[in-house]
Amino acid sequence: MSTYRQAHKSVFEANKLAKWLRRAVGQAIADYGMIEQGDRVMVCLSGGKDSFGLLDILLHLRDRAPIDFELVAVNLDQKQPGFPADVLPNYLKELGVRFHIEEQDTYSIVKRLIPEGKTTCSLCSRLRRGVLYRVAGELGATKIALGHHRDDILETLFLNMFFGGTLKAMSPKLVSDDGRHVVIRPLAYCREADLAQWAEVRQFPIIPCNLCGSQANLQRAQVKKMLAEWQKRFPGRVETLFRSLSNVVPSHLMDAQLYDFSQVQADGRATPAGDYAFDDESLALSSDNPGKVRVLL
Ligand code: SF4
Repeated sequence: MSTYRQAHKSVFEANKLAKWLRRAVGQAIADYGMIEQGDRVMVCLSGGKDSFGLLDILLHLRDRAPIDFELVAVNLDQKQPGFPADVLPNYLKELGVRFHIEEQDTYSIVKRLIPEGKTTCSLCSRLRRGVLYRVAGELGATKIALGHHRDDILETLFLNMFFGGTLKAMSPKLVSDDGRHVVIRPLAYCREADLAQWAEVRQFPIIPCNLCGSQANLQRAQVKKMLAEWQKRFPGRVETLFRSLSNVVPSHLMDAQLYDFSQVQADGRATPAGDYAFDDESLALSSDNPGKVRVLL
């Protein structure tokens, strides 16, 4: 292929990717009512590919949205050794977006309190969360936007099932654990691979995430690998799994807090949402209509 055709093809692919990601973010925002008129959205920018993508896409949507909302990019400089402190301010100044860099040496606190060789992430992220909540309050932010994507959400689902015994993923929109903020995840519908590609297209000045010297979360890495293997062997499985998160049938789970089993009574009316007794293996709920049953075999 000639150089010209190659360049033309990559521009075409980049435009397609941009359209797809922006549409996915717009759809997630609309589906979960993430951003409203007059919101001031604090966009947490870690320096990783996902948070750069989040800010980039939200800026694009803000300029075209039928409602007015503000964006403030916030980075927490945790004073990790080798953190290139000028990269984000330079990038953000060039973008012309309002931003705030919060400097808090959580790295030293973590190093002081956690014995050598023990995992530092849980204290580190607790400290980070506290600082970001405080900053959100000081900035008057009405929403805190995080860069978690579809794959993070699915991995969290399996981590909670495998290691926590809970059927729980990550919410697209939820009140923070201190009860004072609304946390949103506008990238909820975006695939990690697309965000990685977008980071390349946009040449984001990515800051490596291993500056603290901590090990990657091995359990998450295992779940990520498991999902990738499934997807390779059964293309489309990850999409189906993800769809299941917005297609929940509480009567077919076992949480009595979610479904009042004590009130179950036969009233003689046939219902496709009822129990199929012996036919469990060959029947499944249709994805587009949870009440409609489709025969798989
Ligand atoms: S990887 Fe490092 S910076 Fe990230 S949460 Fe863990 S200790 Fe903190």
